[in-house]
Amino acid sequence: MSKVDLHLHTIHSDGTMKVGEVINRAAQAGFSAIAITDHDCIDGVADAIRIGKEAGLKVVSGVELSAIYQNHDIHILGYFFDLKNEKLNAELQKFITARYERGEKIVEKLNKLGIRISFEDVRKRVKGRTVGRPHVAEALVKVGVCKTVREAFDSFLAEGKPAYVPKYKISVKDAIELIHQAGGIASLAHPGISRADDFIEQFAKWDLDAVEAMHSKHWDVQVDYFKMRAEQTGLLISGGSDCHGEKRGEPTFGPYFISMEELVKLEQLAENKKNKTTENN
Ligand code: AMP
Ligand code: FE
Ligand code: FE
Ligand code: ZN
Repeated sequence: MSKVDLHLHTIHSDGTMKVGEVINRAAQAGFSAIAITDHDCIDGVADAIRIGKEAGLKVVSGVELSAIYQNHDIHILGYFFDLKNEKLNAELQKFITARYERGEKIVEKLNKLGIRISFEDVRKRVKGRTVGRPHVAEALVKVGVCKTVREAFDSFLAEGKPAYVPKYKISVKDAIELIHQAGGIASLAHPGISRADDFIEQFAKWDLDAVEAMHSKHWDVQVDYFKMRAEQTGLLISGGSDCHGEKRGEPTFGPYFISMEELVKLEQLAENKKNKTTENN
């Protein structure tokens, strides 16, 4: 069966694998297609498409946007959008700047708690342009304040902990629109972890296209459940591993995938939508 993983992270957000490593790993494991979906960043996508071509692996454009709905953190995945879309790139630049400033604020909070760590310690952990809490956590381990990344989150960085700083987010409606105006389609990421079950109908009214039913942190019953919910709501399904690489706990790459048929449905929907927009213009 042809395997497709539409949820992968690289060093361009908080993953530990370079784009080339992700592509090689996917090709070796017999995958037919993948998408790199870094948090609020598409820096790795053009390289992934190029390297994918050499390796005979189809790569579609992808991103995972940080969004919010009624105080709930929601992640919206975007696929098949135009990488050069101006509005999308302008918005992603805002995310990147805000993440940098948030990193500085987290360090300030840690310093106020008496912890000796500098923003430079954090920056050293960042391989791409986006700063995330995992980089701060790694820095806390590196300077010897915490034993593990997990401990850093549990003691300081998780929501409700003393050095927590919320990140810049856009509304779910705006996230869906941003992806659509760039020619892409939008999927609700890991609804089982985000507890977004009750929101699917509302997001569908905002023209959400798909639900990420298959995900490494979904139980089998949740996968089936969200497939059913997608069908009931007239949405397609997407899926993937959400693999962040070896150093971020158990690598989840491999057993979590959708089929090529499901990818084709998503791609056709994106094409149909693009054609409609051109007709209207
Ligand atoms: P950020 O987008 O900067 O808020 O960082 C969120 C990322 O941190 C998530 O995508 C996970 O990769 C990671 N993360 C969140 N909570 C934890 C945790 N308790 N332990 C380890 N990693 C976590
Ligand atoms: Fe992450
Ligand atoms: Fe996510
Ligand atoms: Zn993810």
